[in-house]
Amino acid sequence: HNRVHGLLEAAAETRPDALALADQDGRRLSWLEMLEAALAAAAQLKAAGVRAGDRVVLVFENCAEAIAFFFGASMLDASAVAINARLTTAELDRIIAHSDPSAILFSAASSEAARAHAGHYGAKDVHGAFGAAALMPRAGASPEPVSEDGREQLALLLYTSGTTGTPKAAMLTHANLIAGAAASAEVRGIKNSDVTYLALPLSHIFGLVTMLSVTFAQSAMRMEAQFSAERLYNALQEDVTLLPAVPQMHAHLFNYARSHGKPRYDGHKLRFVSSGGAPLDPAWKREAEAFYGLPLQNGYGLTEGAAGVCATRNGIGDADISVGLAMGECSLKLDLDAAGATPEEGIGEILVGGPQVMKGYFHDPEQTAAAFTEDGFFRTGDLGRFDDEGRLHIAGRTKELIIRSGFNVYPVEIEAALTEHPDVVVASVVGRSVEGNEEVLAFVSAATGSSVTEQELKTFLHDRLAPYKRPARIIVAKALPAAPTGKILKAKLIETFASELD
Ligand code: ATP
Repeated sequence: HNRVHGLLEAAAETRPDALALADQDGRRLSWLEMLEAALAAAAQLKAAGVRAGDRVVLVFENCAEAIAFFFGASMLDASAVAINARLTTAELDRIIAHSDPSAILFSAASSEAARAHAGHYGAKDVHGAFGAAALMPRAGASPEPVSEDGREQLALLLYTSGTTGTPKAAMLTHANLIAGAAASAEVRGIKNSDVTYLALPLSHIFGLVTMLSVTFAQSAMRMEAQFSAERLYNALQEDVTLLPAVPQMHAHLFNYARSHGKPRYDGHKLRFVSSGGAPLDPAWKREAEAFYGLPLQNGYGLTEGAAGVCATRNGIGDADISVGLAMGECSLKLDLDAAGATPEEGIGEILVGGPQVMKGYFHDPEQTAAAFTEDGFFRTGDLGRFDDEGRLHIAGRTKELIIRSGFNVYPVEIEAALTEHPDVVVASVVGRSVEGNEEVLAFVSAATGSSVTEQELKTFLHDRLAPYKRPARIIVAKALPAAPTGKILKAKLIETFASELD
């Protein structure tokens, strides 16, 4: 296949009547119905004036309409810009100005937030394949180059999570996405009889490539507009066989299950569970394996790498929290001279090469130049080391590395120590400069019904961490600022809890 919609055409041709998608409203669509919806979406985009090389902004929460328009854009040689409807108008304004689309689609039928945005921008209602959508043409957009072959042209513009600052717009080609889908399908061993649970937003690379891997494998997905631990718990008792998730989703599921007296998953269909997109705590891994009765695969991925670039192939109970070996055709190496590297410990910046690596950042030649090595490897900004068996271990991110009195403090280590505490659901650690030094600040969300205090947590850490690693403050909160995936937005922690910090 040269373009992503080729995967959909193949699924519709080979397995036209097989289930493609079941959504939270109980709608069930076959692969042929998905293809017909994508053709209808392409026709609507064309009528709105979308040409080859244009961008189409899709504002949505997970729904069939968004998938139809994603593939519909590809059919016109246009590219999609996938945006979560829960962003604010100000964020959306910035993205529209930056991505320069020729049309904006709001999935009004399935998302109240998308409907509100459509109203704000004055988008006109159209009849989408699955209900009311709103489509707004936008004049003056300048097209990107397209080619006969299509593989190297822009399929998707995807903004990074913004964990460390302002989101960056990764340009992903058709070849990038197809390679990412194939690698994910392979590492999960997807068969066409599988049902993948998809509560990961399609506006994030992990969700989008999961959807593509299901299409690639011509199997089925069960999709949620928003993550809910209760709905996940119930789905697991039914037909779900594959569960890819960010670690926070597992943590919320265990918290839900514990507080409802359901210590273990008791369905029998689930056969694969993974964690990816953010660091996996050892405590979560242990808990996950006890809960699901399956090994938990840890996958390391990033927007710029079209989702997963390496993953474990562990059995149950392996204590290490490596991210395993390269996936698909990815190659991984370390830059031991990069900022934050400690060559004596074998820790360097992780570099990724191969067909999954993006083309660059959209309309940002400077950031693009800084992001690549001379030999074309992408600088991930993550620090890691290889063990004796060649498995990669993530130490942290260069931007998040805390230098405390000359010592390197890796937030993941402190987060892991905190989540060992039974009352801590999610922990997130950042540094803050104070008088020429950096102090360690921790933020935790506590389990339902817990009244754990800062002092208790400090005492708990006392025996577990060397003095320079101990947080100056531990803020206990109901919830931490998170991206739609559930990833914690570290760049927002200090401002969110400013009043409690002083
Ligand atoms: P921004 O670049 O805007 O700060 P982001 O990097 O969080 O946002 P994503 O593309 O969603 O945007 O996340 C990729 C990052 O997530 C990786 O660079 C890495 O730091 C982290 N990550 C992903 N998977 C894992 C994993 N299994 N273990 C540890 N860290 C991971």
